Amino acid sequence: MADHQRIAIVSVYDKTGLLDLAKGLVQNNVRILASGGTSKMIRESGFPVEDISAITKAPEMLAGRVKTLHPAVHAGILARNLASDEKDLAEQNIDKVDYVICNLYPFKDTVAKINVTVPEAVEEIDIGGVTLIRAAAKNHSRVTILSDPKDYAEFLKELEAGEIKESSRKLYALKAFEHTADYDAAISDFFRKQYATDLQYLPLRYGANPHQKPASAYVKEGSLPFKVLGGAPGYINLLDALNSWPLVKELKKALGKPAAASFKHVSPAGAAIGEPLTAEERKVYMVDDIPGIESSGLAQAYARARGADRMSSFGDLIALSDIVDVPTASIISKEVSDGVIAPGYEPEALEILKKKKGGRYLVLQMDPEYEPSKSETRTVYGITLAQGRNDVEISPETFRNVITPKSAGPLSETAQRDLTVATIALKYTQSNSVCYAARGQVIGLGAGQQSRIHCTRLAGDKADNWWLRFHPRVLGIKWKKGTKRPDKSNAIDLLVSGQLPKSGTERESFESLFEEVPPAFTEEEKTEWLSKLTDVVVSSDAFFPFTDNVYRASRSGVKYIAAPLGSQNDVPVFDTAEKLGITFVEQNIRLFHH
Ligand code: 5GP
Repeated sequence: MADHQRIAIVSVYDKTGLLDLAKGLVQNNVRILASGGTSKMIRESGFPVEDISAITKAPEMLAGRVKTLHPAVHAGILARNLASDEKDLAEQNIDKVDYVICNLYPFKDTVAKINVTVPEAVEEIDIGGVTLIRAAAKNHSRVTILSDPKDYAEFLKELEAGEIKESSRKLYALKAFEHTADYDAAISDFFRKQYATDLQYLPLRYGANPHQKPASAYVKEGSLPFKVLGGAPGYINLLDALNSWPLVKELKKALGKPAAASFKHVSPAGAAIGEPLTAEERKVYMVDDIPGIESSGLAQAYARARGADRMSSFGDLIALSDIVDVPTASIISKEVSDGVIAPGYEPEALEILKKKKGGRYLVLQMDPEYEPSKSETRTVYGITLAQGRNDVEISPETFRNVITPKSAGPLSETAQRDLTVATIALKYTQSNSVCYAARGQVIGLGAGQQSRIHCTRLAGDKADNWWLRFHPRVLGIKWKKGTKRPDKSNAIDLLVSGQLPKSGTERESFESLFEEVPPAFTEEEKTEWLSKLTDVVVSSDAFFPFTDNVYRASRSGVKYIAAPLGSQNDVPVFDTAEKLGITFVEQNIRLFHH
């Protein structure tokens, strides 16, 4: 118990529970000092209360802008139980304050009103209250700070019993710091919308869906690391851009070649590095009419990324690791796409892209030097989740630990390359995920399935479809003149996936696209063609729980699998791989992504 009459400073905007609090303080012989409105309410209810001016000897000023800001208040709150502090107080004739009860002007409510002006908002910025709360919370080893009326009852119980427990003071202090932090965040949020340049704050039309408004993208410090050169980004565009950019940046760093990714719904439909294209690949990827593609690694990378799964890439967001050149822009100009992010654009390439979508094509220029912070947070259903960013580096070196066969030497360079492509792609794919790769590119990716075998099947089926698109029957298709690229891609997918109906309107519209209708593939034809697919690699974002994944992978020409270990079934998984002639490599980092 303090040896002086204890003092409470009370200054509350929200006066809920104030009179019960005052009653409890008075019953426990606590002297109450209160700011204007607070003291008026207490006094009118008949409880003894003094105005703050009793100790400051100064009136409230500037229409309430200065009420409690005074050394007599703040020295009384901040003083420790130290001889030097006591001496300072004695010299100025200041008493120690024991309790501070304060909550702030309703800034959030004010700015939530429609058409609020800056002067109206400014008047709701509490200065003295924040200072009271911070000072008392800072000195919580001695002072109790109550910033929430819900805590009054418990506080009074402890006061009645003698003193406020240290554990309670700590919890009240934490709450107080959170109260002021939240308050300051609301203020900066308001002014960000009013004053920030478009370098820091980008209003978005809406969020994931049109009714999710308002929506925006911003940084709290510095500038946004990208510039909008064309179009206006949407929320999902930015999710795609900010996931696909690090993918291509890391791929280029790991393999030293230009890299590209084609994203849809925050997962890659394709990702690749620039490797020369064969005549067949140019045809399958629909880039045989692109001048200069043979000398542009970036164009080759995008042709591969876009070519892996043309159907899924329809309307993609593209990420490119290098300055965009004319061949790459020419490919993009022919495809249905939503936008592109890259470190820069050659002027002629930018001209080509700006003509797309009637000038609304999204063109983002990314700062290649930008490094995000080591930690990241987001809120889900009002709860903030925080984690360290997934900054693990994947490179060919990652695939050194061969598990089976024991006799295997180090992996070939192409196997390491393709595992690197597949694994970096997984790092930015919604989990669960399994990726098949070959020739420096993703050829099948299974994303966002709850069961791993479903990812392995989905990705394997996509890899099979990719390979069937190289079948002479597909290469030899004679399209009717004027058939559009997306219609060709859809028809090819129907043909190679075995989903082509034997009759009916869908069959008729399929047939209407061809000069000569290609026959459906028989099971035997498919099996025979798939037996020619080889040297495919598979990477998985987490361990394989059952051997079924390995069996499925083996049916799509897979010769290398990389996955984390840790399943109860690790040994059967390794044995199955060995029996099927597959080299199993440890990839020792789980790569879930959500
Ligand atoms: P009252 O109703 O007692 O007049 O005012 C209470 C409010 O004033 C509280 O929300 C408190 O945070 C705020 N307050 C306390 N001291 C000051 C000050 O010196 N300046 C300003 N602007 N607000 C203060």
